[in-house]
Amino acid sequence: MLNDDDLCRYARQVIIPNFNEKGQEKLLKTKCLIVGAGGLGCPVALYASAAGFGHIEIYDQDIIEISNLNRQIAHKNDNIGNSKSENLAQECMKINPNISVFPRKKNFNETINISNFNLIFDCSDNPKTKYTLNYLSHKYKKILISGSAVQMEGQLAIWKSGLNINYPCYECVFPKSDEKAPITNCREAGIIGPVTGLIGSMQVNEAIKEVVLKNYQSTAGNLFLYDGLTQNLDKIKLKKNRQCPICSK
Ligand SMILES: [Zn+2]
Repeated sequence: MLNDDDLCRYARQVIIPNFNEKGQEKLLKTKCLIVGAGGLGCPVALYASAAGFGHIEIYDQDIIEISNLNRQIAHKNDNIGNSKSENLAQECMKINPNISVFPRKKNFNETINISNFNLIFDCSDNPKTKYTLNYLSHKYKKILISGSAVQMEGQLAIWKSGLNINYPCYECVFPKSDEKAPITNCREAGIIGPVTGLIGSMQVNEAIKEVVLKNYQSTAGNLFLYDGLTQNLDKIKLKKNRQCPICSK
């Protein structure tokens, strides 16, 4: 049962068909891991908090710098020099004090136990973390909602290989390679804020559907590619790699 405050707080979403109070109760019981408190992590954490995901943990050991502020929208000029994860958690609690948000001032690594989470948001900006999250999410049968953005382009995918053997995993589509990867980090290649904002919002949109809506067609197994120059949004059906070292066994 939702309390009176929550009935008012979530009034505009529980009236959506197939959502209702039961859907809101599911969101409030959902435990989210957010890896990264930057360009993607900020909108993901703010929208997930506003929507009423009941338990959120945010991993990031970085400190807020002035060059982050064009896109990391929870971090303000007064916060330069402070912890990203702590500041983002505080901003989330300002929006919604009825949920629990925990900052973790360290970078995510393979020793962190993810078994208690229901949803994993990959808001990281480096391949090592993305491969680690994919490995753990497959192993522990979690839904992994992965975003990335560089310059004026963004990507979004929902990975559920641990829950359904027919779905591909991140490594099926982006196999590890010895070749030097193209520059895809914001520091070297650049990024504009609206693209990270859009992809982060889409990550939470998918999360709400995965938790709340019954009988809907999951978008897992597709890759969404957004081009901010042309405003094209492409949806590409992905193939499972039957020799994938992570999910083929
Ligand atoms: Zn795979």
